[in-house]
Amino acid sequence: RYDEICQRSWVEIDLAAIAYNVQQIKTLLSPQTTLMAVVKADAYGHGAVSVAKTVTQAGAGAFAVATTPEGIELREAGIKQPILVLGAAYTSDEIKAISHWQLQPTLCTPQQALLFSETLGKLNQTLEVHLNIDTGMSRLGTSWQKGVEFVQLVQRLPNLKLAGIYSHFATADSLDQTLMRQQHQRFQTVIQTLGINPKNPLNQGTVSRPCLHISNSAATLTDAALHYDWVRVGLGIYGLYPAPHLRSTVDLKPVMQVKAKVTQIKTIEAGTGVSYGYQYIAEKTTRIAVVGIGYADGVPRNLSNKMKVLVRGEFLPQIGAITMDQLMIDVTSMPDLQVGEVVTILGKEGKNSISADDWAADLGTISWEILCGFKHRLPRLNF
Ligand code: PLP
Repeated sequence: RYDEICQRSWVEIDLAAIAYNVQQIKTLLSPQTTLMAVVKADAYGHGAVSVAKTVTQAGAGAFAVATTPEGIELREAGIKQPILVLGAAYTSDEIKAISHWQLQPTLCTPQQALLFSETLGKLNQTLEVHLNIDTGMSRLGTSWQKGVEFVQLVQRLPNLKLAGIYSHFATADSLDQTLMRQQHQRFQTVIQTLGINPKNPLNQGTVSRPCLHISNSAATLTDAALHYDWVRVGLGIYGLYPAPHLRSTVDLKPVMQVKAKVTQIKTIEAGTGVSYGYQYIAEKTTRIAVVGIGYADGVPRNLSNKMKVLVRGEFLPQIGAITMDQLMIDVTSMPDLQVGEVVTILGKEGKNSISADDWAADLGTISWEILCGFKHRLPRLNF
């Protein structure tokens, strides 16, 4: 294939590591809790369809996406499990698509619930919906103080079946659990006021109650009391920890590696500038290699002159400004390095590794953003 013979850079996805991570996370869950794999943003850049198929085999029972097209992509690929759309739909055309593809939408406001009910009524269809209760994230959802009213409205509206009630934590990755516990308390208040007993089994016999979910990866790793019926796990599946203090909970293996090839090697004299703006000037005769990956592929330009790469298992420094399609590295210590050799931009070679956490720390951001940042220009190769 063209992309196999012409690759200058690519992303490697270790599907066995995904399955391993799912199994590890499942060791924390009771048999009553379903692992919902969060595969929005193309599975955090890992490829939604292949990730969805892998995690299904490994024991995930449901999916969360951010948008309706992301859900349709999974349905078109033959995924049969429940798919929750976390984002808010508010046009009748989108509601029709959600119903057609049997996705489970998030309803955030009474107005939205009325529009869903009316649109579905015209289609003579009933849809399973989840309600988002804002317990402190201040993003989507009806505030917890009005949560009971909102739930009861949806229970009365025709053509809507209340499948779930959920909320989302703002600070679950913090060592100090105070604010997370406060959000949980608010969620519990809504559930209790509605007379829902989370201990009753879901959809068994005559007792039918909406399924409840509030935990992301951090909360899932923190406390089983927060698990309820579904846990919505993203980052953990991709093998990264939401915070350093959660490393002791389960063993996770990073899934994504980013690699590129050396496309040219040259020697420059002392005093020679490298790349745009001469952010790097060689202090001595230096052997440099050009590597076929740049910021248009997702290597942040702000890592210029700061990042390291791995070549033959050794760390080598990147030098000069990272350009759109290429970056330069100092290979003076490897006089026999050849054009075409593979450079690990992110990943592991032997004992050494460079992780999305390392980049996130250098850039003052979070690993989620690093993973999602690798562009579709890089082919995803599954192993
Ligand atoms: N639930 C919701 C509503 C989210 O927005 C996200 C991701 O941002 C998740 C769950 C998964 O979070 P994480 O990747 O931290 O597990």
